[in-house]
Amino acid sequence: MKGFKSFASATSMRLEPGITCVVGPNGSGKSNVVDAIAWVLGEQGAKALRGGKMEDVIFAGTSGRAPLGRAEVTLTIDNTDGALPIDYTEVSITRRMFRSGESEYEINGNHCRLLDIQELLSDSGIGREMHIIVGQGRLDGMLHAKPEDRRAFIEEAAGVLKHRKRKEKAVRKLEAMQTNLNRLTDLTAELR
Ligand code: ATP
Repeated sequence: MKGFKSFASATSMRLEPGITCVVGPNGSGKSNVVDAIAWVLGEQGAKALRGGKMEDVIFAGTSGRAPLGRAEVTLTIDNTDGALPIDYTEVSITRRMFRSGESEYEINGNHCRLLDIQELLSDSGIGREMHIIVGQGRLDGMLHAKPEDRRAFIEEAAGVLKHRKRKEKAVRKLEAMQTNLNRLTDLTAELR
């Protein structure tokens, strides 16, 4: 992270398998780490990043330090298990944003579109719609949700929802096809 929210200087963190706890006083930037992960994975909503506008992620300056002109986050993922459909054992995703509002994305240092990142992540369970990030207050929401809504969360996280939607689409197509077949049968009967 560099120039991202409270991380004015380049800061790197290693997230090992298992549980990583980030400890610090209120307002020291713990949640900004999670925002950085959401942002580099393509988050497009300023509100989801706890800001008013997208440019709010750029270091705004403190009493002792001038504001910066750009924010940058790189997330390097160990891909030795091939979870991401790309021929590299390490995959680095970079997002950069300037005060002009202009954004840049890179996969392993090569410029790409946001769409390329979304496609790379889409089947891995770490896409931005996959509920990999549960924000403060969201847990409460989930615990108090109706059983059907809670099931939808779990299905989405498990990647079942995508297949359910595809199935619904296929069933609708089959129904339309059946209607056409019925009409055809009627017509054939009339012509006989
Ligand atoms: P809490 O324990 O209260 O939840 P936290 O450790 O999670 O706090 P964050 O919410 O991650 O803290 O960080 C808030 C801090 O980040 C504030 O001090 C805020 O001024 C700073 N901050 C947020 N955006 C920027 C920015 N664009 N430039 C500079 N500082 C920023």
